[in-house]
Amino acid sequence: MIKGRHEANILINSCSLCGLCQKVCPEGLNLGELCQEVRMEMVKKGKMPPSAHDFPIRDMKFSNGEQCVLTLHQPGCNASSHAFYPGCQLTASAPEHVQRAYTYLTQKLSGGVG
Ligand code: SF4
Repeated sequence: MIKGRHEANILINSCSLCGLCQKVCPEGLNLGELCQEVRMEMVKKGKMPPSAHDFPIRDMKFSNGEQCVLTLHQPGCNASSHAFYPGCQLTASAPEHVQRAYTYLTQKLSGGVG
């Protein structure tokens, strides 16, 4: 696991370090200690982020920051009666669909689609 087998990450990150395994194991094996040790070693070697949530947390902070805000009124409008929010995944993977949907909305709705 320490050598960085990616499939093992789910296993070692699923452990809540509760210690129950040690209490029920007749040999007193504490898998939690092993999982904790492996996590620390993998983080030290750069094979795992400090937290499995590290990237989503940093991404959420950035996305909620001032550098990641874009609000525009429909071209030719100075107000918006509707807001179109396609989400980042569709915009990234199929921008042409987002463009067509936006064009459709601007043709069907009055008052501006921001
Ligand atoms: S492996 Fe042991 S310490 Fe980890 S969650 Fe299971 S019982 Fe708890």
